Amino acid sequence: MNISFLDLKATYLELKEELDQAYHRVMESGRYLLGEELEAFETEFANYCNVKYCVGVGSGLDALHLILKALNIGKNDEVIVPANTYIATWLAVSYVGAKLISIEPDETTYNINPDLIEEAITEKTKAILVVHLYGQPVAMEKINAIASKYNLKVIEDAAQAQGAKYREKSVGSLGDAAGFSFYPTKNLGAFSDAGAIVTNDPDIAHKVKLLRNYGSEKKYFNEVKGFNSRLDELQSAFLRIKLAKLDEWNKKRQKIANYYLENLKHIKNLQLPNIIEDTEPVWHLFVIRYSHRDYLQKKLAESGIGTLIHYPIPPHLSSAYQQEYKKASFPITEKIAKKVLSLPIYPHLLEQQLNIVTQTIRNIINYE
Ligand SMILES: *Cc1c(COP(=O)(O)O)cnc(C)c1O
Repeated sequence: MNISFLDLKATYLELKEELDQAYHRVMESGRYLLGEELEAFETEFANYCNVKYCVGVGSGLDALHLILKALNIGKNDEVIVPANTYIATWLAVSYVGAKLISIEPDETTYNINPDLIEEAITEKTKAILVVHLYGQPVAMEKINAIASKYNLKVIEDAAQAQGAKYREKSVGSLGDAAGFSFYPTKNLGAFSDAGAIVTNDPDIAHKVKLLRNYGSEKKYFNEVKGFNSRLDELQSAFLRIKLAKLDEWNKKRQKIANYYLENLKHIKNLQLPNIIEDTEPVWHLFVIRYSHRDYLQKKLAESGIGTLIHYPIPPHLSSAYQQEYKKASFPITEKIAKKVLSLPIYPHLLEQQLNIVTQTIRNIINYE
C-alpha cells in the first residue's frame, strides 16, 4: 500500500457537496472580488482567532509583507527573524528593504531561541517576527517582555499554525499582528494561493486594507502606493467551509501525532518532536530527526511511504541570500536541515496506514 505524504483530494471529497454548492453560489452571484464571501470569512476568521480584525490578502507572503508596510518598517530598519524557517518569512522583510537579523533556534522546539534575542537588538531594531514552525507555538511570554522593554512590534508568522494555542490564547492574537497563509497544504488551506492578516490594531487593519487594493478604499481615490493582493470570493467561500472543519481536523492531526509519539519512542538516534509547556500545537508537520536521515528517507520511499524535508536548505544558504550571507553560519539551523524528516500527517490518514509507517521505520532502523 502506498502512503503519500499528503492527500489534498481527500479533503475535497469529504466536503464535496458543500464546496460544489459554494462554487455555484459564487459563480452565480456575479461578484468575484471584494464581496460578501470575503467579508463573511474575515469576520469568521477574526472570531476564530479571537481578534478584532481580519483582512484577506493574496498569500501568506503578502500578509507578512503588508504587515511590515503597514508598520512603516523599511530601509535602515532591522527586523529580528528566525534563522530556521521557510524562506517566505525572510522574503517579506527583504521586500520592504529592512535588514534581517537572524537568530538561531532552540534545538528542542525548532523555534526561535528567545534567549538570543536581546543581545541582537540595536537602535535600528523595529520588530521581532516569530514563526510558529511546524504548528508548534512559540513561547511568547519572553518575546513579548523583550518587545515591550525595547518598544518593538511583535509579528507572528502563523502560516503553519491555524488554531494552535499558547496559554489558551490562539496564535494570531499573541502579538501586534499576524500573517496567515491558506496555501492548499496548510492546516486551513484554500484551493489556490490565499492569505490573511489578523490584528487588534485598527490602524494596521485599515492600512492593510488599503495596501491590498491599490492603496484605495474608495474606488479611484488612491491614498498610498498600494499593491494588488486580494483574497477572492471563491476561495473565501471555500475557506469558510473548511474553517468550520478546522478544529475537528486539527484534533485528528493531534491523534496521529500521539500515535507516532507512542509508537516511535525509544528508537536509537531517532529524535521525536518535543512539546513545550503551555502550548497546544496543531501538527502542521510531524518532524523527526534521525542520524542517517537520507538513508531512512530512501528506504521509506522504496516501501511506498512519502516523506519530505522541511527544509533542506536554510534561507541563509540559499542562492537568493548568498550575497548577503556569504560568511554567515548558523550551525544549529544547518545541523537541523541535515537531520529532519517530515512524516505523513493529515486528517485522512488511517490508523492502519500509521501502523505501516511506524513498523516500516522500526524495521529499516533495526536492519541498518
Ligand atoms: C507557507 C508559509 C509562508 C508563505 O505562505 P504563502 O501563502 O505560500 O505565501 C510563510 N511562512 C511560513 C512559515 C510558511 O510555512
